[in-house]
Amino acid sequence: MNSRFGSHAELVADDRACVWHPFTQQRGWAQEEPVIIERGEGTDLVDTTGRRYIDGVSSLWCNVHGHAHPRIDAAVRAQLDRVAHSTMLGLTHPAAIRLARRLVDLAPPGLTRVFYSDSGSTATEIALKMAFQYWRQRGEDEARRTRFIALRDAYHGDTIGSVSVGGIDLFHSMYRPLLFDTLKAVPGDIADMGRLFDDHPGEIAAVIMEPLVQGAAGILVHPPGYLRAVRALCDEHGALLICDEVATGFGRTGKMFACEHEDVAPDLLCTAKGLTGGYLPLAATLATEKIYEGFLGEFEEFRTFFHGHTYTGNPLACAAALATLDVFEEERTLERLAPKIELLAELLEPIAARREVAEVRRCGTMTGIELCGYPVDLRMGHRVALEARSRGAIVRPLGDTVVLMPPLAISERDLIRLVEITAEAIDVATAAAPAQLA
Ligand SMILES: *Cc1c(COP(=O)(O)O)cnc(C)c1O
Repeated sequence: MNSRFGSHAELVADDRACVWHPFTQQRGWAQEEPVIIERGEGTDLVDTTGRRYIDGVSSLWCNVHGHAHPRIDAAVRAQLDRVAHSTMLGLTHPAAIRLARRLVDLAPPGLTRVFYSDSGSTATEIALKMAFQYWRQRGEDEARRTRFIALRDAYHGDTIGSVSVGGIDLFHSMYRPLLFDTLKAVPGDIADMGRLFDDHPGEIAAVIMEPLVQGAAGILVHPPGYLRAVRALCDEHGALLICDEVATGFGRTGKMFACEHEDVAPDLLCTAKGLTGGYLPLAATLATEKIYEGFLGEFEEFRTFFHGHTYTGNPLACAAALATLDVFEEERTLERLAPKIELLAELLEPIAARREVAEVRRCGTMTGIELCGYPVDLRMGHRVALEARSRGAIVRPLGDTVVLMPPLAISERDLIRLVEITAEAIDVATAAAPAQLA
């Protein structure tokens, strides 16, 4: 099958000649046959050779209602007939206005202002800068609040600010000399965070965390009550709480936002990935009225938030996001998700019992299957992904943790098949290399 951009062979040649892929060792990439995705249908992806795969990781954790959803397609097309892009700097547009209203109505209470950008990294970068500037503008004493507490193993994006609050050594340690200094708390250990607050009285601007589950760390699930305890600690010490819901937002944990599980309302909330249903790049950082008001002043006071990306609040992306929220209502996505989450939990039980599997961690649909101690150079997680691919499912590991994050719209039948394929892939990949059980 040929793509309208050329034959499969031509595309492979030019990919190898010109493309540098993210988070990819290009030497290994060039030795493998690339899968070139030609189109999506529901929760399937189809490649240029006509092979069909279940999109087992929601095209990097962002697809929600499936690909080529008629409702979202039509909304993007309708916007395309009007304008593809204008700017939010000095102008505004209907889709961004409507979407801001919808997000404010949906979000945990108190989040009343929506600041757009275009990726999860920018959403967290913006939250950090807002928190920092907010305290700087509050007067001499409050201006001492310049430090951030982040969690060990955290992931908040790849820009320098978001990497500064990151805690995954493999991704982040290289850049240490470029990063600002942050305090790192042990995830799930509220006493540890309490000590950091006690050691730095009046210095903490904000705590930033992924609520309930740290995704890129390998789906690390926090003990129940931890998020709420962090909220209480922030209140006690007068610090802001930033919740990074880039991965957890829009239904991934079973509720619209993970914060809802513990009735927590953060001061700043970051969203991106699922916001447009996985269609187009868009992010939103939501803030409380109190933070917003901290930026009000006369022009010449320069309390302005001097930040804004060129494609901030792009109209096509906002139209996709509005349609995505409509589909949540029309298809009762969250209601219909609950039994699928139960099914997933059942399906994973026998996998957790396998000798090759150290642990299965899950929060809602977000699933990490950690394999037992294989040497790094075996790339066991990657091997499992290749075996799964040859059986008709796209999964992407984080090291030796096999991640499953199906679109919320996946059918029960495909969910069963996805877990079956994953189990088989683990069997086949590990059979060749016995674990070096430590
Ligand atoms: C993916 C992710 C980000 C970064 O989002 P990008 O759109 O890739 O920049 C930030 N925070 C969390 C929790 C994420 O999972």
